[in-house]
Amino acid sequence: MAPEEVKNRVKKLRMTVERHNHLYYVLDQPEIEDSAYDALFEELWKLEEKYPELKTKTSPTQRVGGEPLEKFKKVQHKVSQWSFNDAFTEDDMRDFDKRVKKFLKVLLLKNPQGPTFENIEYACELKIDGLKIVLEYKKGEIAVAATRGDGVIGEDVTNNIKTISSIPLKLLEPVDIIVEGEVWLGKENFKKLNKERTKKGETLFANPRNAAAGTLRQLDPKIVAERNLDSFIYDVARFQGEAFGAKFLRPPLRNQFEELQFLQKIGFKVNNNFKLCKNIDEVISFWKEWGKKKDKEDYLIDGVVVKINETKYQKALGFTGKAPRFAIAFKFPAEQTTTVVEDIVLQVGRTGVLTPVAHLRPTLVAGSTVSRATLHNEDEIKRLDVRIGDTVILQKAGDVIPDIVSVVKEMRTGKEKEFVWPKKVADCGGDGSIERISGQAAWRCKNKNSFIQKKRKLHHFVSKGAFNIDHLGPKVVDALLEAGLISDYADIFTLKKGDLLNLERFAEKSADNLLQSIEESKKVTLPRFIVGLSIPNVGEETAYLLSKEFENIERLKEAKIERLEKIEGIGPIVAESIVNWFDDKENQKILNKLLKQIKVLNYESSPSISSGQKSSIFGKVFVLTGTLSSMSRDEAKEKIRALGGDISSSVSKETDYVVAGENPGSKYEKAQELGVEIISETFFQNLLKS
Ligand code: NAD
Repeated sequence: MAPEEVKNRVKKLRMTVERHNHLYYVLDQPEIEDSAYDALFEELWKLEEKYPELKTKTSPTQRVGGEPLEKFKKVQHKVSQWSFNDAFTEDDMRDFDKRVKKFLKVLLLKNPQGPTFENIEYACELKIDGLKIVLEYKKGEIAVAATRGDGVIGEDVTNNIKTISSIPLKLLEPVDIIVEGEVWLGKENFKKLNKERTKKGETLFANPRNAAAGTLRQLDPKIVAERNLDSFIYDVARFQGEAFGAKFLRPPLRNQFEELQFLQKIGFKVNNNFKLCKNIDEVISFWKEWGKKKDKEDYLIDGVVVKINETKYQKALGFTGKAPRFAIAFKFPAEQTTTVVEDIVLQVGRTGVLTPVAHLRPTLVAGSTVSRATLHNEDEIKRLDVRIGDTVILQKAGDVIPDIVSVVKEMRTGKEKEFVWPKKVADCGGDGSIERISGQAAWRCKNKNSFIQKKRKLHHFVSKGAFNIDHLGPKVVDALLEAGLISDYADIFTLKKGDLLNLERFAEKSADNLLQSIEESKKVTLPRFIVGLSIPNVGEETAYLLSKEFENIERLKEAKIERLEKIEGIGPIVAESIVNWFDDKENQKILNKLLKQIKVLNYESSPSISSGQKSSIFGKVFVLTGTLSSMSRDEAKEKIRALGGDISSSVSKETDYVVAGENPGSKYEKAQELGVEIISETFFQNLLKS
């Protein structure tokens, strides 16, 4: 970016972050997900780090929280309030570990007998996504309860806090103490609350955090009492004196672990899921473990707070800007983030359909880096009003394909370019003409045999979900096409060793390997065969439905629209496109030529089904989510289908099992919601065996 552009982007980011801060902290009505906000904040922070001359004292990166509401009495905090710097990846966390060790060495290693800091202990606590609260007790009795506010001044919410039953009005020891914690609303209570609000026609809360914040900042404590807020206390901010005859504390509270135990002992509700980790690897394991099981708790958890355990090291490290150096918020992978649309490019698919694809500034979302997102069709571009240069919110929930959710319009500079749908597309071949598919939002090339389309079809034909020919990836297909060695599917099966040896990158061994894979793929199951044909609108699911219904390719070839439409899961558009495909003379030629080279296995000939043995999988509907460690997703699907089970891509009441691998996606939550049985990979493997 040119200097002027950087300056403008920083300015826009500041304005946008400020606006969302206000919506979130003051109005309790956020418009975007936290992770999307975090992405904007992080971009601003990084630009300010890279160009320090652009830093300002009033930038949101330099301030904590939002202004306190006028309607409350103000409280000046006796202990400064901070927020955390964030870590999003394992690498961020390892950098943090290196950073603190380096700092500590410089600060404390003047003493040669002193510690070496090779292994620093970290206290890991769940980062509860609620509202921060600061409680002051005098002689063991609650005196003041304040929100964090802007970090210096908070709102006095003492009367409201007194209605929360897990916050003690009187401690078990008569101590003068200031503690910090989180007030939260359980997910179940949140649902109930929003249901009531729907009935009354009131605006709904976006999530439990905002409901908790909105509730605590009610003027009427009676309303607060009705909503069942809860709390976890996690830090002693100030404490001098004795408790339990001073026995417990000598010397007083040496580390975070002792602090948590002490808080519990004097009567606070402390979240029990904390762990003392011996090194950064243990921290990462704890984070991974909770990333998987976080949704099972009734409270929202948005990461793990990692603090250096020893108080003396915490003190030595101190603070920088608005955050401590000794702690970090290790956030769970974001399912939403923001990025910039660098270009919109039309892609010709294997069935000739034109798909606009957004080329994105690469960004990390749901644990992997993404640089493309489909915009589906012309209507979707219009609906989103997305332009080249726009900052957008990108979503990838669990295993779902990345999707642009919306445009952050306040980030626009006026230089964004609208995408004009072309009249002709060179990649379509011929004269480049295109046509809108009747009754659909999609456009396609008029020419059905463009080189790109042929290439894409062949890539798909050899791919895992279809013929699955090892050693024949897109690059080899392209080389074979360019050398004129193949021009349709059947040609693949007539290749000879001498043909391959003429190609660059092929030697004896690699040619033998490829020929052997081709030979092995000459026997193919009916569903894979159908998938390989690239019939418009026919994917894996439809191919299975068709196989079940027609059992062999000869019958499928003769299928009539009426019969196809009767199959559950096949609608009129799909039925028509199947019939049209088999009616097309060119397709018939390709198909007949292909069938002379290979053998398509009839669907019934699947050994376990035709033998009449019904496994525990027979007739059951499965949904897969997350990554399986013992097999790929395609293998799992194939095994289920071979045993007579069905796969569905979404969870519904008809689903029998949801198989949850590592990092399960939103399907996991949906299954919980609907009460569908969720099974582990091990259980699934046992089912396959039984
Ligand atoms: P932060 O992420 O810096 O973390 C500090 C907070 O963590 C503390 O105030 C405390 O309340 C909480 N916490 C929970 N468990 C804790 C534990 N065990 N130990 C210590 N602290 C613990 O908080 P912040 O400064 O409020 O950061 C901003 C947060 O608010 C981010 O999560 C951000 O996404 C969200 N936000 C969202 C929007 C939006 O528009 N969606 C706008 C502004 C802020």
